[in-house]
Amino acid sequence: MLLLLFVKVLEQHQKIHISQQESLEGFLNHFIDLVVIANILPIARASATQQRERMPTMKEVVNGRVWQGLGSGYDCNAFLIKGDQQTILVDSGTHSATEKVKEILSKFGVTAIVLTHGHLDHVGGAAHAIQTIRVPIWASQREAEKLETVDTNYIDPFFGTNIPPIEIGRRIEEGNLLDLGEITLKVLETPGHTSGSICLYEPSKQWLFSGDTVFADGSFGRTDLSTGSSSQLIDSLNRLSAHSVDSLFPGHMRSVITNGSKHIAKSYQNAKMWLF
Ligand SMILES: [Zn+2]
Repeated sequence: MLLLLFVKVLEQHQKIHISQQESLEGFLNHFIDLVVIANILPIARASATQQRERMPTMKEVVNGRVWQGLGSGYDCNAFLIKGDQQTILVDSGTHSATEKVKEILSKFGVTAIVLTHGHLDHVGGAAHAIQTIRVPIWASQREAEKLETVDTNYIDPFFGTNIPPIEIGRRIEEGNLLDLGEITLKVLETPGHTSGSICLYEPSKQWLFSGDTVFADGSFGRTDLSTGSSSQLIDSLNRLSAHSVDSLFPGHMRSVITNGSKHIAKSYQNAKMWLF
């Protein structure tokens, strides 16, 4: 929360045109001034709200099939996948994204939410949104245990944010096929970032929804949190490298629409270098 406040104050700091060249010390010296001018914050808030309203909640990234949203601040990227029979949301941002998630669930008629793993920045929005809009949640067995019992240290090791228990309606596991109609997602268990992390692979379209296992541009998920394992992550990246991936839709940072396999191969090479 403190960090959020800091970011908000920093935004305000930039708004009032104090030189951005100032040192951090200089900025902190202005903190009191910023508190004094807090009366202009509502104006800034109103303008931010107007900006948000102009922005579509989800951006279409594959014609009529895949939309991407959230992804700013602490929120992970969320993906909406629309088949002919079912529409699923992959991940849901933090608790701060609850209203956006509710809007997505109702606007797109989402039939299930699939969680790639149980960290707050992926599950918080769903945990709260389903209190008012009932949509089944699917996750792996290992993550289900953490979410149903609300293992706060696991879900949010940094701030210990509390969320309502998430009942997992379907435990998905390696090899399960999620048939959405014209789109079939294969569940790949990819431990490393967490032991129960999964990816979703669409073989005919060569899409990979990779959660925090692998990101574009040679990056990959951290392995120092609860149940993380560097050797397992390397094995998972090796395994993903064997799949033909055109579009890579990761849990953070940018998605790539073509040449996903090249990004994964680079991540695998980097992980082998950096994680040992
Ligand atoms: Zn994570």
